[in-house]
This record gives sequence, C-alpha cells and structure tokens, in this order.
Amino acid sequence: MKIVDVRATTVTVPLQAPLRHSNGAHWGRFVRTIVEVEADNGLVGLGEMGGGGQSAEDAVRGLRDYLVGHDPARTEALRFMLANPTASLYNNRTQLLAAVEFACLDLQGRQLGVPVHELLGGKVRDHVEFASYLFFRYPAADGSGEVRTPEQLVAHARELKDAHGFTVHKLKGGVFPPDYELECYRALADAFPGDQLRHDPNGAWSPEESVRFAAAIDDLRNDYLEDPTWGMNGLRRVRERTAIPIATNTVVVNFEQLAANVRDPAVDVVLLDTTFWGGIRPCVKAAGVCETFQLGVAVHSSGELGIQLATMLHLGAVLPNLSFAADAHYHHLTGDVIAGGPFRYRDGGIDVPDAPGLGVELDRDKVAEYAELYRELGGYPYDRDPGRPGWYPLLPNSDWADPAMAGPVDLGGR
Ligand code: MG
Repeated sequence: MKIVDVRATTVTVPLQAPLRHSNGAHWGRFVRTIVEVEADNGLVGLGEMGGGGQSAEDAVRGLRDYLVGHDPARTEALRFMLANPTASLYNNRTQLLAAVEFACLDLQGRQLGVPVHELLGGKVRDHVEFASYLFFRYPAADGSGEVRTPEQLVAHARELKDAHGFTVHKLKGGVFPPDYELECYRALADAFPGDQLRHDPNGAWSPEESVRFAAAIDDLRNDYLEDPTWGMNGLRRVRERTAIPIATNTVVVNFEQLAANVRDPAVDVVLLDTTFWGGIRPCVKAAGVCETFQLGVAVHSSGELGIQLATMLHLGAVLPNLSFAADAHYHHLTGDVIAGGPFRYRDGGIDVPDAPGLGVELDRDKVAEYAELYRELGGYPYDRDPGRPGWYPLLPNSDWADPAMAGPVDLGGR
C-alpha cells in the first residue's frame, strides 16, 4: 500500500452554547480540519485536527511531498519523517503528525479488515467510561443553555447524567473567582453524592490559591485536581501540600516532560491527548511508562469530532491502566461529520468501534454542510472571551469574570 494523496477540509460544527474557559471561550462552535489520506488501493484513511482555514489546509497539503509513495503501515517512520525532534524546533508539526498517524492506522485497519485497537495490542475493554465535561456557558443565540449559577450547573449536570449516565463530573473552571467556583463544585457534590468529581481551572491560580482550594474540597469524592496552577514547579508545590491527586494535560505532553515528572514528581495523573502527543501510538507508549511508575492515566479531550473521538476510544480500549474516566467535549456538539450520526453514550460511556480501521465513515453531506458553515462564519479567537472584549488573563489570574453578568454575548461572524 502506498499513499497517493492527502486532502484537508475545514469544517465548523455548532455547539449547544459557547463554552467558557480560563483564557476565553469556544464561541459557540468548533472549527476542525478533516484530513483524508488516500492510498493506491483506493482506500481512504481519516484523520482530524483542531483549527482550520487556509493555513491549516495548506500545511496538510504541504505534507504531500513527504507522504506520497510512503507505505502507511510504516507508522513509526512518520515520527522522524514529519516531526524529527531536532527539526521540530523549526517546524512544530506534532498535530499534523497526529492527524496523519490516525489516517495511517485507519488505512492499515481497513486493509487488514481489523479495528485499530487490534493493531495496538488488542482491547482490554469494550466500553470506555467518560466524565460529564461541564463548562460555564454563555447562552446560545436563542437564550438557551446558559450555565453560570450553581443551580444552572447542577441542572445541566443532571440533564447530562439523565441522558448519558455519567457518574463522574468534571468542571472546567478558571472563569469565576475561586470561592464562587468552590460554591459551584460543592453544589455538584451535594447534588450527586455518590459520583466522582474533578475540577480543572486550566492553570489560572497561584500555587497558594490552589492549596487553599484543595483544602476546601478535601472531604469530597475527588478524582483529582487538574492543572490548578501552571508549570511543573508550581504543581509540585501544590502536590506537596494536598492529598488530592494532581493531574495535568498541559505540562506533561511529551516524553521529555514525562521523564522529568518521573525523576521529580509534579503530578500523579497524566491526561493523554492523541493530538498533543502526536498520535495514538505515542499515547500507548506513554501509558506504558506511566504503568511502570504507577502514575495514573486518563484520556484528554482537546475538542473533537467523531474521527478524533474514535482515536480516543481505541486508545481507551487498549490501556490496561486507564484508571479514570475519559474526557470529551463531544456531548456539547449539535452534530457530527460521521455517517450514522454522532456516537451515542450508554451507561456513562461509549462502546469501542469494532469495524475495520477507526470504525467511522464520513457523511459527505454533513461535511459539505459544515464546510459551508465554516466559510460563512470563519474562525474565532479561542483565547478571547466574547463577553469581555479586549481582556486577557494574567497568570495567576487576578481579574475574574463577574458571576452576575448574564449573556447573551455577540458571537459575530466574519
Ligand atoms: Mg485540562
């Protein structure tokens, strides 16, 4: 099998409502790039990456010179061909590598007639558990979907739990003053006494604020506190002062950092992201290191459509030491580009696909519809808050959003 073409299509899929985070927001939609890698036998492998537009599509097409003629089964070689560790100082292609790796694994699976998890050692579970990923949300254009108060947060979590069966709840914080988010977090604990909880303020707090927050939630059923502050040294200072496990998806995202964390621990749990780490296979390798050193492992979500969700499911399927529920933004989307409609949650998780390759096919009508929506709306600045024009956070943040400020906000178009 040889690669004959590489294609990229930017799509925009609407979210139920804009999702707020410590740096800004997802402005009511996700922009993603669908990557298709075609082989000389007519098979097409699927990949996906975050962001899009002309520059992203050009970057994908720019890989043709590297990939045309390459056997997609030679997956390990891609790491050196596209993202050589020394050359990467100049070309930072990790996310491109990930999208191509997904597509090459998909091609191999399709050719052999086996699911990707069989190429990765075989599944140890059929069903991957997910957390209800809860965000503070601005209202959608029709006024629905706002999550700002503890009551709205609990109602939203209950709705998701009823619909999908979640028993783990992750709150994306770092938006409002820490004491207000503490009130919200404790409201979740009161509403769902048997469920597990996690809070992730995306590194927005000082180490001292993080220690104070940790002490205030110490009596709850916490999976972990995720990136309460930034940097390995800050996290290490927090970890030394709390019994709550510390997790990260920001400061252990490659093998150098993983080694540093083993030598001088700063976090207990590593959230593996199939995009940030450059593919599914690096995540499997990293999970092996974590198993050796008894570090916890979870699956991170960087905002996915069905193709990337499939990579997360195959990853989750093969990790014996997946000790926590995975994360997904997926249930905030209003649609998807895959045939048969979005993946469905069942009992708080999603069944691992068993069809050949990643187990997903494109719905070409949906791709066309969402590509048109991208052309209509354009991109959005992820690190800008549509409700606070001109604002950007300091680290540690000292200028929180006002919990009394209700939407709507101007999400504009291009
Ligand atoms: Mg995080």
